[in-house]
Amino acid sequence: MAGADDEPATNEPAAIVRADWVVVGDPTSAGSVLEDGAVLVVGERIAAVGPAARVLADHPGVPVERLERHVLVPGMVNAHAHLAMTMFRGTADDRDLADFLAVVMPLEARTLTREHVEVGTRSAAVELLRGGVTSSLDMYFHTVVGRRAAAEVGLRVLTGPTIIEGGPSTLPWDDLMVHASTFLAEHPSDGAWRPVLGPHGTYTVSPSQLDEVAALAGAHDCIVQIHLSETEAENQMVLERLGRRPLDVLDAAGLLGPDTVLAHGVHLNADEQRRVAAAGAAVAHCPVSNLKLASGVAPVPGLLAAGVTVALGTDGAASANDLDLLAVLRLTALLHKGAPSGPDGPDATNLAAAVALRMATLGGAIALGIDDHTGSIEEGKLADLVAVDLADPSTEPVRDPVAAVVYGASRSQVRSVWVAGERAVRDGRCVNVDERDVVAALRRLGDELLRG
Ligand SMILES: [Zn+2]
Repeated sequence: MAGADDEPATNEPAAIVRADWVVVGDPTSAGSVLEDGAVLVVGERIAAVGPAARVLADHPGVPVERLERHVLVPGMVNAHAHLAMTMFRGTADDRDLADFLAVVMPLEARTLTREHVEVGTRSAAVELLRGGVTSSLDMYFHTVVGRRAAAEVGLRVLTGPTIIEGGPSTLPWDDLMVHASTFLAEHPSDGAWRPVLGPHGTYTVSPSQLDEVAALAGAHDCIVQIHLSETEAENQMVLERLGRRPLDVLDAAGLLGPDTVLAHGVHLNADEQRRVAAAGAAVAHCPVSNLKLASGVAPVPGLLAAGVTVALGTDGAASANDLDLLAVLRLTALLHKGAPSGPDGPDATNLAAAVALRMATLGGAIALGIDDHTGSIEEGKLADLVAVDLADPSTEPVRDPVAAVVYGASRSQVRSVWVAGERAVRDGRCVNVDERDVVAALRRLGDELLRG
């Protein structure tokens, strides 16, 4: 670590965040919880992390923010979402996926505008940041507008064209592909940003269309995200229509690879789990959405055992109702102990707290291919930091701060959030927007859509 004497001269602002606990590096590695730790932030990056006494001594004169009884964890990564769908919250509750889509897709087709996406995404960004999320993958429409609205609030959103013929995008197929190609060319990868191609699913995009998507993806550094094997009915529908299961269709198109994020993967069989692992693809696990739509329980212990990177996602607020990734984290840790899918029975040792936290942070960053830049608190990475106040009836006395976050904390305990060194949340509130205005705009939009 650089001492005061050999530090490079810089005009960038520096600050030290000191907390009673800092989760350093991979949460599952030994010694990852540092007591009385400190993080030196210079500009947008973490310049040093270590015991507070050492960091303070090495960097005299740098302002220190002291966070007693707080744990500093990496900013969480939301690996599957439809952010602007906050506007459709509550429109299709208590239905399965097919009935849900039958309600929501026509509603989207009637009502989708740039302005609506802006309002819906801005509110989603406020909700996610206040819940400790600093990066989110998104699959939606009018993505340039959505990404900008989220950035104004302070949230990093990785997004790009959603590919679905006859969806709310009114573009004919060829125009849609030209639009996608232009987007990828105009928004190339840069640091923690990677553009995204989002073929909706193997039941909504044909095999020949998937071939075109694969050719486009192959020409760019981008993420490919797709809904896959979300329900058993989807598997059956694709099998009947195409004679193959969804993963086979994806694989045949050349879209199963290390840049692929499979949303849900609830009904992947054991052989498919091994193939996903061998391909280096990731699964975005969205248990709140999966349970609410009665889609089933994803085989997460099996996926992890096979070596698949499993990340966590909220899915959209139309199906999951809120965008609470901390709640998703807790549910994940509980669900796969008490009600695991697959051949093995309940096992309380499944998904220890640190394993679950890794899925919400480093696992998400690996899934998105941005783990060189975020996903853990390490020197050189972006300062994506979340301070959780554990001095709370739900978490004291603190024995293990990681277990306290996973099993006890709620998002009201998220007090401060930094994204690339910039403060986005202070005292539990977003600092870059007036939250009341954001929520009022979403409420007005909801009223308007109801009158529609
Ligand atoms: Zn989805």
